Amino acid sequence: MFGMIARMETAQQTLRWRLADDDGGQTDLLGDPVDRMPGRGELVGLELLHVRAGRVINRVPEASAMPFRWTINAYRGCGHACVYCFARPTHEYLGLGAGEDFDRRIVVKVNAVERVRAEVASPRWRGEHIAMGTNTDPYQTAEGRYRLTRGIVGALGEAANPFSVLTKSTLILRDLDVLGAAVARTDVRTDLSIGTLDREAWRATEPGTPNPLRRMDAVARLNAAGIPCGVFIAPVLPGITDDPAMLEDVVRAAVRAGAVGISSILLHLRPGVREHYMEWLRETRPELVADYVRRYPRSHAPQDARRDHEALIRRMIRRAGGLPATPATPRGTRRPARPAPQGEQLRLIA
Ligand code: SF4
Repeated sequence: MFGMIARMETAQQTLRWRLADDDGGQTDLLGDPVDRMPGRGELVGLELLHVRAGRVINRVPEASAMPFRWTINAYRGCGHACVYCFARPTHEYLGLGAGEDFDRRIVVKVNAVERVRAEVASPRWRGEHIAMGTNTDPYQTAEGRYRLTRGIVGALGEAANPFSVLTKSTLILRDLDVLGAAVARTDVRTDLSIGTLDREAWRATEPGTPNPLRRMDAVARLNAAGIPCGVFIAPVLPGITDDPAMLEDVVRAAVRAGAVGISSILLHLRPGVREHYMEWLRETRPELVADYVRRYPRSHAPQDARRDHEALIRRMIRRAGGLPATPATPRGTRRPARPAPQGEQLRLIA
């Protein structure tokens, strides 16, 4: 993921940068000046940086372990402001900060829908699966105004191009109509990211996101509408959301919501994220700092901890009654649901 290199020209209130795409692939030159718009209404407090992207469907590097090869990220930065967000360092490629800048200064690829239409219509495009939500949230607050994800879902559906969406937002319910139309034409998988149902932990760690209970309700509504939706319990935060009883609450609710898949990962703290998260931890949960230092000598939790966590979630799914059989598609065929596609080190565990 990861790669815009930017040169800020603050005197002219413009930015120019090279885009080395969202997911670490080729480099495009974005030469147009960037319009900087103060957020109004529901976007008050944000600054929207309008850019025209040279390309929007980005290739994931061959070396990546991701279970998909193509991604779309119409936004950079995310007003959901999760303290652990692994995409934070990508803002630094823009010459912006990984902290408050990431939360408040949102890059909007205003031509994303027209680019997607053009790119999927290209004779070179082979109709492969495209993952959305791999870097920042496609249904973040800005989407309420810009409707880029809605347009992209519509374009991919019309082109019968398979895709998946991962989000922490109930705004996805606005698009039941276009998602439903897409499901009728191609493989579509949605996932709601719900790391905890605990109100206190949610408010402390994901301050800009909708209540996780409403997110779980969105899982049920998507599945009821025939749009396959799973739950991604992520990331699990040591000492904050990893209590087994709390995790079991999420698993039980996900099974009740008809989740077509449940996957989970432990927190990882890669450089850039680590600094931000540990600063937050020192301010809010100083008693946990020493434990994190011990657990995270490297970016990822130790392998045995990850393995134990996966086994724990599997047992919880079984205790909760298991997952539904692969649903029939609206076109009457049966096929496996697409894997929950997002997150570094994603492990499908159910
Ligand atoms: S919703 Fe996702 S992209 Fe947005 S801040 Fe949270 S983790 Fe990052």
